[in-house]
Amino acid sequence: MTVTPVTVRVPAKVNLQLAVGPLRADGYHELVTVFHAVSLFDEVTVRPADRTSVRVSGTDAAAVPAGRANLAVRAAAALARAARPRGASSAVAIEIRKRIPVAAGLAGGSADAAAALVACNELWQAGLSAAELSAVAAGVGSDVAFALLGGTAVGRGRGEQLTVALAAGTYHWVLAFSPGGLSTPEVYAACDRLRAARAVGVAAGPGRARPPGLGAALGASPVASSAGGRAVDPVAGSSGGEGAAGVPEPRLSTELMVALRSADPAAVGPLLSNDLQPAALSLRPELRRTLSAGRELGAIGAMVSGSGPTCAFLAADARHARDLAVSLTGAGVCRGVAGCHGPVHGATVIPAGEHG
Ligand code: ATP
Repeated sequence: MTVTPVTVRVPAKVNLQLAVGPLRADGYHELVTVFHAVSLFDEVTVRPADRTSVRVSGTDAAAVPAGRANLAVRAAAALARAARPRGASSAVAIEIRKRIPVAAGLAGGSADAAAALVACNELWQAGLSAAELSAVAAGVGSDVAFALLGGTAVGRGRGEQLTVALAAGTYHWVLAFSPGGLSTPEVYAACDRLRAARAVGVAAGPGRARPPGLGAALGASPVASSAGGRAVDPVAGSSGGEGAAGVPEPRLSTELMVALRSADPAAVGPLLSNDLQPAALSLRPELRRTLSAGRELGAIGAMVSGSGPTCAFLAADARHARDLAVSLTGAGVCRGVAGCHGPVHGATVIPAGEHG
């Protein structure tokens, strides 16, 4: 019997709010975030095979691990453990067509993992419910459950505890991509160092000498070194204790939630926020220029997406987004742009013949 391959389309995300709380004992930060799925999609196809393999094509394909480190492979293995009867073959050939840039703060790897879960659930006729898939997803990665769900949703914990948000309307975005990615753990570590440095500055009191390298931490100028953000050395490596001290619990922006219900981008734009942005800027000072250019060109909201380095610009409407994309390209402040809109559905099976 020939089994038809299954193809799933899965969106990237931006975070409309990313509030980063204290570092937890398990090494993760407590988060409150507003996820928003946008129409920049990867496609993942699975078919039965003698042994599991993964092939990646498209944007940044060379930067994606080809073996068991690939999140789609991990997701398929996790689903096999949760759903396959003992002894039944769970080997699959996985094909990933990437349009979501890698290590860009758009959760492309998590998206591929979610797509693999949905595709294998279908291929194996495993019959897991959305809630069961979500539980498997949470074990694979923090953003995977959201890529299953899509839309606009509040994430808590590591981001895996989701509540659908009441958002109205469609929002038009321009994403500005950077050359090279940023490692999410490195951005969180930089965030901890900046916070610890700020705490030291506050404790020292006004007029007291600051430890060297703290200008950028306190917003004066970019950190000079991008080598793992080690420029703020006095507190490097203390990202648990010092960094966590005095960091408030993250809080959902009720103003943003109200604005999202209004369907008015002009109300949403000024309320976009990302606690990781200073850390991403400290590691990539040149992103300041990208953000300024977008604002000067009329974006009604501008922020680093997640852990960066992608910058996301909110436009008034589809036409404004097209104009903004053209102007940003002309300004030479990024390696490329993509226009997209949100919210869109999470990982979805697409009928044979409709995928590219
Ligand atoms: P995050 O979800 O932490 O915000 P990100 O969006 O910044 O991450 P991803 O594109 O998800 O970044 O990639 C993060 C890392 O995951 C990459 O550097 C890559 O080594 C690894 N990875 C594993 N599988 C995949 C995949 N299928 N696609 C992209 N990256 C993958």
